[in-house]
Amino acid sequence: MAAPATTDPPLSMSLPPSTPPRPAPVVECPACGEATRFAPDNTWRPFCSQRCKLQDLGAWANEGYRVAAIEPPDDTLDPSGR
Ligand SMILES: [Zn+2]
Repeated sequence: MAAPATTDPPLSMSLPPSTPPRPAPVVECPACGEATRFAPDNTWRPFCSQRCKLQDLGAWANEGYRVAAIEPPDDTLDPSGR
């Protein structure tokens, strides 16, 4: 007794060529938590505004600056005098 072969769905079941525009998802602004549309026309996505985006970038810049400042400078001069 052979097991019944599973019938694969035809490839034509995939999305139609013309998909209707879907509503943009609403996400929370990482900076202030305000609900904002994550849409291509939203220049500051995922942020709600330019101010929030700059604010976040500034925070990252400060963090990076601090980390870089902690690193000791390269001492290419050898004190052993070789
Ligand atoms: Zn915001």
